[in-house]
Amino acid sequence: MSIAAHHIEHIKTLLGPKGCKQDAEDIAPFVHEWRDTWHGQTPLIALPADTAQTAELVAYCAANHIPITTQGGNTGLVGGQIPQGELLVSTKRLNKMRALDRQNSTLTVGAGMVLAEAKALAKDAGLLLPLNLASEGSASIGGVLSTNAGGMEVLRYGNARDLTLGLEVVTARGEIWDGLSGLRKDNSGYDLKQAFIGAEGTLGIITAATLKLFAAPASRQTAWCAVPSVEAAIALLGHVREAHGDAISKFELIPQIGVDYAVKNIAGNRAVFSEPAPWHVLLEIGIFGSPQGQSTLDQALSKALEAGIILNAAIAQTEAQAAQFLRLRESLSAAQKGEGIALKHDISVPVSQMARFIHEASQAVQVIGPDCRVFAFGHVGDGNVHFNILQPRAMSADSFKGLAAAITASIYQHTLALGGSISAEHGIGIMKKSSLKAQKSEVEMRLMRAFKTALDPDNIMNPRVLF
Ligand SMILES: Cc1cc2nc3c(=O)[nH]c(=O)nc-3n(C[C@H](O)[C@H](O)[C@H](O)COP(=O)(O)OP(=O)(O)OC[C@H]3O[C@@H](n4cnc5c(N)ncnc54)[C@H](O)[C@@H]3O)c2cc1C
Repeated sequence: MSIAAHHIEHIKTLLGPKGCKQDAEDIAPFVHEWRDTWHGQTPLIALPADTAQTAELVAYCAANHIPITTQGGNTGLVGGQIPQGELLVSTKRLNKMRALDRQNSTLTVGAGMVLAEAKALAKDAGLLLPLNLASEGSASIGGVLSTNAGGMEVLRYGNARDLTLGLEVVTARGEIWDGLSGLRKDNSGYDLKQAFIGAEGTLGIITAATLKLFAAPASRQTAWCAVPSVEAAIALLGHVREAHGDAISKFELIPQIGVDYAVKNIAGNRAVFSEPAPWHVLLEIGIFGSPQGQSTLDQALSKALEAGIILNAAIAQTEAQAAQFLRLRESLSAAQKGEGIALKHDISVPVSQMARFIHEASQAVQVIGPDCRVFAFGHVGDGNVHFNILQPRAMSADSFKGLAAAITASIYQHTLALGGSISAEHGIGIMKKSSLKAQKSEVEMRLMRAFKTALDPDNIMNPRVLF
């Protein structure tokens, strides 16, 4: 795939010197992703300054059949943001704050704004934007919406889709759709924003979004529990729910191997308990008004201890201790880095099938590669497991790579047999394209293609992604 030199020159004139990067050195950080898994190339990075310029750029690309890959913070895990010769459109300059409406509890920002910055704006106004990702220091609002990101507070607040009231989009034809509504009720035809959320950049470029904000809890209680099994972790969720209803904002399952590697491979981490346990749960509840939160959580965990649901529990006594618990959980992705190749699977099953999935899929992996290390962690309350398989210590990288296809196929087979999804959070991108058909019926694939053709008739928007 190549883009003719005269098109490159035209785009450079359109966007001006600040709006383009063409030197290899400047391009490099945009065409490699952080884990070193995806590498690509592009003749030019386009950084439009605003929505009007984005629309002009896309209209030119549509008229001349120039393919585009859109990129926000480049933290995507399935390769969709890495170009292979397409024009790379970066949203980095579309990062302005547009409006904060306290009474309506909404924040409207440009799609290139970094998630952490949007969260800080909400916090400064005494409100909460409850999207909690370990990548929030780099991930952009547009990327988070295009992958319908989840993270650690989905249990209480929902995923990115649930937090979005309105969008502004530059369509694949280069038109501007201003759908920046802050309405919570609007039954006036198709809810178009839903088409662009989770579309992984295949239907248009999101240029701004209006997001829902929430009352910030007066305080939070964070606890770390050692549990004997996945079944016990799920029982604990029900138990804490009885005491705290929907105030549970985080409920994360962590294996002992996760604690061990987070301590061994990431400086500054400490295990919460000196005794190992089969599994651990990090949980957090928000306290709104009632100062009884801590004692209620204490009581709920004491009862769980008596019932044998948990083996041990610690409630953080200070913010620093809560941060230490959270840091252990957030280290789990990076903690695998020192352990050879990790085959990553981001799956979901109904919560009621979670324990069965982990047992059966772990056994199936052991049959294919007896010394593979299963590193499964995730958001129990959402039925979402990051089911990662680490290279056996005594096996060469090449031999492990030889098992990869069989391991992944087996994991996906177990996922689908239990009514699950092969992509709970990260999307399909390039990585999971070949597996998508196993999950979707022919009717669903046809409807998805019809959508793509209707909105992007020339197939210029992320043309290698999803299908
Ligand atoms: C350490 C780490 C932790 C993570 N944790 C989580 C987690 O807990 N939950 C979770 O769901 N995900 C998680 N992710 C992955 C997650 O997908 C991203 O962090 C985030 O959603 C992507 O944002 P981004 O701006 O980096 O998007 P990019 O990587 O730039 O792009 C991702 C996709 O969105 C498209 N895109 C980007 N911007 C736009 C736009 N404005 N318009 C149209 N398309 C666009 C791209 O073309 C690409 O297909 C994690 C990633 C890392 C590295």
